[in-house]
Amino acid sequence: MNTEKSSACFREAEQYIPGGVNSPVRAFRAVERDPLFIERASGSKIYDIDGNELIDYVCSWGPCILGHAPEAVVNAVKAVCERGLSFGAPTELETQLARLIVEAVPAIEQVRLVSSGTEAVMSAIRAARGYTGRNKIIKFAGNYHGHSDGLLVKAGSGLMTESVPDSAGVPEGYASYTLTAEYNGGESVERLFEAEGEDIAAVVIEPVAANMGVVPPKEGFLEFLRDITRKNGALLIFDEVITGFRLCYGGAGEYFKIRPDLVTLGKIVGGGMPLAAYGGAAEIMQVLAPAGPVYQAGTLSGNPVAVTAGIATLTELKAHPEIYERIDGNGEKLAEAFRQKGLWVNRAGSLLSAFFTDGPVTDYTSALRSDKKKFAAYFSRMLEEGIYVAPSQFEAMFISAAHSDEDIQRTVEAIRRL
Ligand SMILES: *Cc1c(COP(=O)(O)O)cnc(C)c1O
Repeated sequence: MNTEKSSACFREAEQYIPGGVNSPVRAFRAVERDPLFIERASGSKIYDIDGNELIDYVCSWGPCILGHAPEAVVNAVKAVCERGLSFGAPTELETQLARLIVEAVPAIEQVRLVSSGTEAVMSAIRAARGYTGRNKIIKFAGNYHGHSDGLLVKAGSGLMTESVPDSAGVPEGYASYTLTAEYNGGESVERLFEAEGEDIAAVVIEPVAANMGVVPPKEGFLEFLRDITRKNGALLIFDEVITGFRLCYGGAGEYFKIRPDLVTLGKIVGGGMPLAAYGGAAEIMQVLAPAGPVYQAGTLSGNPVAVTAGIATLTELKAHPEIYERIDGNGEKLAEAFRQKGLWVNRAGSLLSAFFTDGPVTDYTSALRSDKKKFAAYFSRMLEEGIYVAPSQFEAMFISAAHSDEDIQRTVEAIRRL
């Protein structure tokens, strides 16, 4: 595959942008290549500036569940742009999106719109602290919740690949408010509650971990967290930035029949635009300014263009529930192809990861056992086959409604040839 133009552009970008990219995982360092520069994308395909056409399983790292540039979303965005890009004043569109979210996600009675998943989780935690009057939180090793200071502790994906256990620039004091437990490890959570229970404001979890590769929760683990938080007066926060509108329209809370106190959303909810959200019980959300004492704000929060992309995306998903059955079925076809190659596969709906280990992968430690050299070789082989997967072992493969039977068949055959 010829990628000369991309490499030249990357050299140029490196002069002006640190590491040549605006988000570290895009740099392809884990697979020891230069990143592809993208010209356009449509449906299931992405096109780089050298003219290569690739079946895309990155899907912008999750948002593009309808595939790239879906007509309904693009048309709605074009139309709304004509009316102005940002007002910094309320619009009916925001209420419309908020209502769609409240109707979709059982645990959300009220919701605040923000501009990134990072902001959503950071703000949900502030709300939890404000509501409980407590300081500490529990997070799980290998779960990623964005790059805010207190959450860059054992934070998965980009940081796993780069082998940076923590980020520089985060004062130890911040990290000391973040306690880490083992994903799927109930005992580690019990120990933390025994030791510091009175000061734990919240447990935050990816209900299906998808930033250390996909790692589903063990049977009963989420129920256990629901019980132990309730008993100790702490809140349970589901970080559904990936799983929201992905596992099913109602997200992981609905999928696993668990009602967390707060939920964060991102990626799909913005339909490819910078938009995220957090919400939960009205009683908790009422702590937010101007209704309550917890401050959280944003110049571009609820931006009309982003909100319109979100409304159009959710409306499409709501009108076509059959999408979920199809993308889950396609996920299983790919999972089976990887299994036949002897890889360990974790799948939850249309999210999956094949690990280069004979498994099982149930937590951060076991995810780290995957052979990264073998992953890098697999990544390059897939590119040669015209298939674009995330350039890291610790990311999910995302399947969209635009992936056709032919795309899936071609991918299955490429996996067979590995
Ligand atoms: C992507 C992600 C985030 C951060 O969202 P950004 O929009 O990149 O800031 C937070 N939590 C989870 C689970 C994510 O996958």
